[in-house]
Amino acid sequence: MTQTITVIRGDGIGPEIMDATLFVLDALNTGLTYEYADAGLAALEKHGELIPASTLESITKNKVALKSPLTTPVGGGFSSINVALRRQFDLYANVRPAISFPNTKSRYENIDMITVRENTEGAYLAEGQEVSADGETAFSGTRITRKGSERIVRYAFELAKSTGRKKVTAVHKANIIKSTSGLFLDVAREVAAKYPEIEFQEMIVDNACMQLVMRPEQFDIIVTTNLFGDIISDLCAGLVGGLGLAPGANIGADVAIFEAVHGTAPDIAGQGKANPVALMLGAAQMLDHVGQPENAERLRKAIVATMEAKDSLTGDLGGTGTTMGFAKAIASRI
Ligand code: NAD
Repeated sequence: MTQTITVIRGDGIGPEIMDATLFVLDALNTGLTYEYADAGLAALEKHGELIPASTLESITKNKVALKSPLTTPVGGGFSSINVALRRQFDLYANVRPAISFPNTKSRYENIDMITVRENTEGAYLAEGQEVSADGETAFSGTRITRKGSERIVRYAFELAKSTGRKKVTAVHKANIIKSTSGLFLDVAREVAAKYPEIEFQEMIVDNACMQLVMRPEQFDIIVTTNLFGDIISDLCAGLVGGLGLAPGANIGADVAIFEAVHGTAPDIAGQGKANPVALMLGAAQMLDHVGQPENAERLRKAIVATMEAKDSLTGDLGGTGTTMGFAKAIASRI
């Protein structure tokens, strides 16, 4: 049976990098079929809403989506579409690999790690945000649950098991924030005990940041709460050469959405200058997820080989190539 995935072409550079990504997926003969759905500005113009019901239905039915970046219009009471999708499908795990590629301006080579960020609780609560009437004091809460911590840490260990990774580091601040970060760490220890074959390490977040900058090769999988994960995953993207190479997956119990970490890059949209690799790497995560790890590996290897040869690289990587030219160079190596 062929598997259908929902494809959201997105806004700004979205359609360009999606065309480039589907081009390399075609070269892989994945057998996947695509159901196109609108979201973001494109959907607002066509359907009068940012996420039409038909898009949610498509994702619910297909359970897997590949998504380009979306514009959330500023003001007008619009809340982030990405946050809305995360809530709608309870996409609790944000999984962001950071892998070194040749010929980037990054400081390190041989980095190969994954940040697993809890995506639904922690410090990112919509409710309970307060500023006092005189504007002098502000308050926001953090909620950590045993269930939320358990499922994210379990996800990290299962990911280690299924990908042959050897170590999981739980990043926390339990020495100071004893209640919430303390609960997360307690649960992480309990879950880790069930995976004796995988090394477990605990690290306080400030030290983790220093270690990441000084000795990043010591990390394999990092699992952490929402706010720390947000910051650390961007730090890791910076270690391997920036946003043009950073993919992310948002995974729930039923649905998973794969994307590039960067936004719609309105400054270069429509010019064929965008680097499509971040979305292609998101597609590689998707191939792993749908049971095509060999194709995922072929795609990653073709990207590495193309970058090694400096063939048709886009401007952000120091080349003069176009989005589609880069995709064709990658596809020719598949
Ligand atoms: P951005 O990531 O779009 O752009 C930041 C800088 O990086 C720009 O100079 C841009 O040209 C460059 N850049 C980004 N992706 C690139 C690529 N693939 N190749 C080459 N250069 C690239 O961030 P921003 O400017 O803060 O946001 C622009 C819009 O994107 C906003 O509307 C924001 O809401 C949206 N956004 C969407 C998502 C998403 O849908 N996942 C994520 C972040 C931002």
